Amino acid sequence: MQSAIVLGGGMVGVSTALHLQRRGWSVTLVDRKEPGRETSYGNAGIIQSEAVRPYPMPRDLVTLAKIATGRTNDVHYRATALPQHAGPLLRYWWNSTPERHREATAAWARLIAYATAEHDTLIREAHADNLIRRAGYRLLHRDPVALERAIAIAEENQRDYGVKFRVLSGSELAKAEPILRDDLPGAIHWLDPWTVSDPGGLVSAYAALFERLGGTLLRGDAQTLTESSSGWSLDTAAGRIDAGNVVVALGPWSPQLLRRFGYRIPLVRKRGYHMHYRGGHSLDLPLVDTAMGYAMAPMAKGIRITTGAELTGPDAPATPVQLGHAEATARGLLDIGKRVEPEPWYGTRPCTTDMLPVLGCAPRHRGLWTNFGHGHQGFTLGPATARLLAEMMNGEASSVDTTPYRPDRF
Ligand SMILES: Cc1cc2nc3c(=O)[nH]c(=O)nc-3n(C[C@H](O)[C@H](O)[C@H](O)COP(=O)(O)OP(=O)(O)OC[C@H]3O[C@@H](n4cnc5c(N)ncnc54)[C@H](O)[C@@H]3O)c2cc1C
Repeated sequence: MQSAIVLGGGMVGVSTALHLQRRGWSVTLVDRKEPGRETSYGNAGIIQSEAVRPYPMPRDLVTLAKIATGRTNDVHYRATALPQHAGPLLRYWWNSTPERHREATAAWARLIAYATAEHDTLIREAHADNLIRRAGYRLLHRDPVALERAIAIAEENQRDYGVKFRVLSGSELAKAEPILRDDLPGAIHWLDPWTVSDPGGLVSAYAALFERLGGTLLRGDAQTLTESSSGWSLDTAAGRIDAGNVVVALGPWSPQLLRRFGYRIPLVRKRGYHMHYRGGHSLDLPLVDTAMGYAMAPMAKGIRITTGAELTGPDAPATPVQLGHAEATARGLLDIGKRVEPEPWYGTRPCTTDMLPVLGCAPRHRGLWTNFGHGHQGFTLGPATARLLAEMMNGEASSVDTTPYRPDRF
């Protein structure tokens, strides 16, 4: 029987373990924490079937000037951290020309196309339907010109990729969300995405399914990984384990481990914050306030506000400036109540410089596989890229052309 250690119990790692298990592999899933406690816990919980284009780096001078001078809440940066971001940002900028972004979109949209279907199977098998809403989410626009521009892009995405949306006037939005005032310019309602009331809970449910089907879940430190005569060895809380294959699915921590084996994979590390609010009003569906770059999602713990990207050091203390602005703006829309946690949560979107995940076999090590770098949509894409990687590892013909995701492109 083929064997694998999957490193990382986020959405990507747990889904990879399940897809290998389904193919008859003996799989041990290892994390230093419980599954689904890091990035896959703290996101906005949207399974984004509409996100057919990966996020490019803005290249127009007006937007860049706004970021540089702190006049947008989408991006915040710590000047002292910029030197460590400079290399990855330069590559990201280079890959964000319209032509290269078009190429990345073609490869990205192929994954997004079957992301929801892959979740659907796992949700049913994991009996996790109670966590899911299948009613889409909304993007609020406060500026009529921005709304018109967004509608044009949405129409293009509908034409090219079949994603469905509805434009809501201010009064239609207020009818859908009666707590909102009716004089806002309007919104786009993406109809196909699914939303999750407890993203970490969904990962836990998938991990419980993996264990129920006979998989082994262990605590351990990925940094103890070594190559051995039979393949790969790792120290865990249950002692040393061995397998013929290992999958690095450590989200934003993946490059750190791969560096030990001689691979340098640059990431643009976009930190995001969240906070829950209770005791006020809630929303029916998640709402993204586009002008202020934050999302409000009704979740089990209350309304969760998630922020845009912060460029800071990986171990830098929390500087939740964007959360402060988002919270103040959200309070202008509805009474969100009081903060639930004493401190904001934060985590890092693992964004590659060419906006595509790193998926496949490491070029210079037999049995070393990667599945990370899903950027802004790893919660959406986990099960989809898991299936693709499991097909590759199992020697099956792939359902999708996997060339653009190969690790040896770096
Ligand atoms: C604010 C915010 C909002 C977001 N909103 C969305 C959204 O709505 N929809 C969407 O699709 N995506 C969203 N994302 C992105 C998404 O959350 C990530 O892309 C995704 O969670 C990455 O999953 P992962 O499994 O690769 O990483 P993770 O979930 O971070 O998992 C990595 C795992 O590796 C483990 N680990 C790390 N180091 C070690 C070690 N040395 N030894 C053992 N284990 C280790 C960690 O404990 C962790 O469990 C958002 C992200 C943020 C920050």
